[in-house]
Amino acid sequence: MRGRQVVSMLAAGLVAACSASNSATDGERASAEEAPLSASAPAAARSVSAATAGSTGIGDPYFPGDGNGGYDATHYGLALAYDPKSRQLGGTATIDAKATQDLSQFNLDLSGFTVRSVTVNGAPAEFSRKGSELTVRTDLKDKAAFKVEVAYAGTPQPVRESSNLGSYGFIPTPDGSFVTCEPNGAKTWFPSNDHPADKATFDFTLTVPEGVTAIANGELAGQPKTTNGKTTFIWREKHPMTTYLATMTTGKFQVRTGTSPGGIPVYAAADPRFRTSLNSLYDQSGKITDYWATVFGPYPFGSTGGVVDDFAAGYALENQTKPIYGGFEPDEGIIAHELAHQWFGNSLSITRWKDLWLNEGFATYAEWLWSEHRGQGTAQQQFNDAYAGATDAIWKYPPGETRPNDLFNASVYTRGGMALHALRLEIGDGKFFPLIKKWAADHRYGNVTTEQFIELAEKTSGKQLDDLFDAWLFKQRKPAKPTSVS
Ligand SMILES: [Zn+2]
Repeated sequence: MRGRQVVSMLAAGLVAACSASNSATDGERASAEEAPLSASAPAAARSVSAATAGSTGIGDPYFPGDGNGGYDATHYGLALAYDPKSRQLGGTATIDAKATQDLSQFNLDLSGFTVRSVTVNGAPAEFSRKGSELTVRTDLKDKAAFKVEVAYAGTPQPVRESSNLGSYGFIPTPDGSFVTCEPNGAKTWFPSNDHPADKATFDFTLTVPEGVTAIANGELAGQPKTTNGKTTFIWREKHPMTTYLATMTTGKFQVRTGTSPGGIPVYAAADPRFRTSLNSLYDQSGKITDYWATVFGPYPFGSTGGVVDDFAAGYALENQTKPIYGGFEPDEGIIAHELAHQWFGNSLSITRWKDLWLNEGFATYAEWLWSEHRGQGTAQQQFNDAYAGATDAIWKYPPGETRPNDLFNASVYTRGGMALHALRLEIGDGKFFPLIKKWAADHRYGNVTTEQFIELAEKTSGKQLDDLFDAWLFKQRKPAKPTSVS
């Protein structure tokens, strides 16, 4: 994600925050696993006592209600219809999952809507609602694969202005919908395990009035089909994706498709109000994706591109394969930022929200690398400017401990980017760029932590780097300006 006006809007705080961590979940799992080992318990009693409720959060201490425990989602199949006129969204979500404990019940995150029915493995299941939690009663064994189908309908309500966050989630627009879900807005349009620690593949079967285009992640499966005034678009994202990157952006769009000079399929779409941006969006997105593949390693997904919608969000979000720009024509810098996220944030996803600098620091540094590549100012110059221009607020906010009530603070971006430049100066280009490629390759499609990055940086460089990372990521004060060793 990035604000339209680089630092100033970020400092104002645009969007932010969701999360959950592991302690509660681990505790639940431990007790569930220990129960059957009790030798004195009769067999029947053991089987009954072993099944417990999956926790209502995935265990991220910053966002205790986000995500859920007791299962891993592996695939979402969303068959949804949206009518921009009535603002009604409805259909079914089919979730393939695997139990990670014996389960008496489990939760999905869903906000609003009327849930008409829930089935587990085809059989009707009892369910209840409380806040954003949909609780489903069941009887599943640890490691069992299962399929949940939720039928629901209603008027989506985006999340608005909570703490420093702008509006996010499923946002109705005059001609359709603008859908950006970081950090925890997926619950505003489909039931899920809404936390980046649980990634899954997706397919989308989206039905809209004829003349409206429905855009989701991944690639189109065949041509859209129109019957009785309704058009259905089928999209498939076959690579794992976090819930906050899923989108169902609909409306009037002009679309251009093709392949980048390097051979990567490109899908670009622009609202008619931004029709003059379409060719530039298409060209830049292809070229920049190609360039990042030379710097970060092979492009992780099946296509690249972007969407410019006329909803004035004032920010962009790196929706997987299709970054979205809300109400402005994107320049190269912000396109470079959102496309760098396809590696850092999307292919490699954070495990806990406190590590958000692994997304935003990397994407900010990518902007500096793009500027250097284009001969518009080296990364060193960008670093110098950022260091000189940083406010006390940035030095007081350690980006390695992202704060839940101020997730998208400018420090997470700028000081995160500065941390990477300081690392580059310390270990030299000959070690730095191979490190970045290895980081992207080793954890492709997975989840990562700051500790893992520091460990790899030390291993790759053969240097002890605790002091450097401590100064740049974890201290509430201004680090000394580094000097180049290379
Ligand atoms: Zn970003």
